[in-house]
Amino acid sequence: MPDEKQPEKEEELPEFVIEGARSGRSRCKTCRRKIALGGLRIGVLIEGPFGTGYLWHHLKCLAKNRVGFVERAYELEAWNFAKEKPKGLPKIETLRGLGDKVEKQKAERQEMPYAELAPSGRSKCKQCGESIAEGSVRIIVGREVVFGQQVRSTPVKVHPGCIAAELERDDTTVTIDELEIGLRAHSKTMAPEAVDALCTECSAQS
Ligand SMILES: [Zn+2]
Ligand SMILES: [Zn+2]
Repeated sequence: MPDEKQPEKEEELPEFVIEGARSGRSRCKTCRRKIALGGLRIGVLIEGPFGTGYLWHHLKCLAKNRVGFVERAYELEAWNFAKEKPKGLPKIETLRGLGDKVEKQKAERQEMPYAELAPSGRSKCKQCGESIAEGSVRIIVGREVVFGQQVRSTPVKVHPGCIAAELERDDTTVTIDELEIGLRAHSKTMAPEAVDALCTECSAQS
């Protein structure tokens, strides 16, 4: 029988795929470096404004940042969705250990984008210039700022309703696709349900 390829239905795509990278061209969404050919990577299924697809991370990078995703992928045995089963998969215990190690560093250096409840009413939204009310959600995203020869990312605070305008800027360091992943990964002081609601609000603007 001819091996006919049926177009896959979107809902049938697995939530995660763990594989050896089939090219050297994909870029890790966590560290932004290229993923070497054959390097262990994990794809996280994303339903974005441009359709459904995978965002790739080094397996270890995602384990450091969002070990819950990696645990879930291991539960689902996401390597079974690879074209070829990857070799040298680390044990989940090893990957958990990576996360524990960076937990302390993360407490000191908060990664962007993230959301939090404004601890006071003193901050102003960089987009509309209005104050951000105490206890309301604010999103912190990076803007590129040039210091001499260096480009650094400096944090700016915006209202959730102003995030689409912020991400239109040329100097933003976050794309609309990365926003949701970032918010989920980094908004550690907010309840997951609140982050869900925020992501829905943000994607409704695009
Ligand atoms: Zn990486
Ligand atoms: Zn605003």
